[in-house]
Amino acid sequence: MTDPASLERVRAEFLDELARAASDADLRALRDRYLGRKSGVVTSVMKAVAAAPAGDRPALGRLANELKRDIDARIAERREALAALGSAIPRVDVTLPGRQPLTGRCHPLTQMRERIEEIFLRMGYEVVEGPELEDDYHNFEALNMPADHPARDMQDTLYLAAPVVSESHTATVLRTHTSGMQIRYMQAHQPPVRIVSPGRVYRRDNFDLTHTPMFSQVEGLVVGEGVTLGDLKGTLASFARDFFGPDTAVRFRPSFFPYTEPSAELDVSCFQCGGRGCGVCKRTGWLEVLGSGMVHPAVFEAVGYDPERYTGFAFGMGIERVALLKYGVDDIRQFYEGDLRFLEQFPA
Ligand SMILES: [Zn+2]
Repeated sequence: MTDPASLERVRAEFLDELARAASDADLRALRDRYLGRKSGVVTSVMKAVAAAPAGDRPALGRLANELKRDIDARIAERREALAALGSAIPRVDVTLPGRQPLTGRCHPLTQMRERIEEIFLRMGYEVVEGPELEDDYHNFEALNMPADHPARDMQDTLYLAAPVVSESHTATVLRTHTSGMQIRYMQAHQPPVRIVSPGRVYRRDNFDLTHTPMFSQVEGLVVGEGVTLGDLKGTLASFARDFFGPDTAVRFRPSFFPYTEPSAELDVSCFQCGGRGCGVCKRTGWLEVLGSGMVHPAVFEAVGYDPERYTGFAFGMGIERVALLKYGVDDIRQFYEGDLRFLEQFPA
């Protein structure tokens, strides 16, 4: 009726059940099932040993006793382990105040971009986005920068090791500005045009206090019949007052961009010192905020617009740059380091 192999099977079954025992009650039930005086599994084994042939009895008896002791010891051991685990679980103090769950929010640069977009959306602009991997034509050539144009050196371009072919174009550069999207939009739409185009751009720059090889821009483009420099100035002055505060003064300084003529930089009066001069504005009272100008006729020719009929203006600003100014942050790298102590200072 019994042999060493069947004893081992009993042991294996027991170990299996022991592993699943998770409470004192489980252990008591397990003990009853195996060691119970009347119907315990081991008790029946003992009876079977007593009925075995006399020659097998001593060896079987020894094995059966060993099994019994083993089961007994393992149950005791498990009971202690469960007790230790129970005392390690801290009691819940229901009188403690609840913990405030952490609420996620947008990154400060995203907040800044959305704020800029929102101002232009209110003025009737459309927000459009384009590819970050761009071809030479959209990034340079159509913007009045042919292959030998010296202005290409104004932007340290990051070229791709190999062209990336997609359905729409064969990309060779990481875009140096979002202006490529202006070309794409004009190629696909007839005037009037009123768009802003936000996105990441790339330049071969060092990673330091004021530079990063990747940053973000918002560019804008307006094209129509009779659009003038006065419209450009009015639009940007209105944006500056909305963005930096109602008392913000603006001034335009002549500048140069290959794709606009004339070109101008926009300065706003320093919102820290109100124009008296401080550390933020480097004692000048003015902050340089964006570049702008009237769209160059060569750009209209590149997209098939009649430059005799249409005029327009374009502008572009760095989102990091305005965020640095607006928040008084002195190290641009902090925007990319993901340090929550920094990011938590910008409520949504
Ligand atoms: Zn100032």
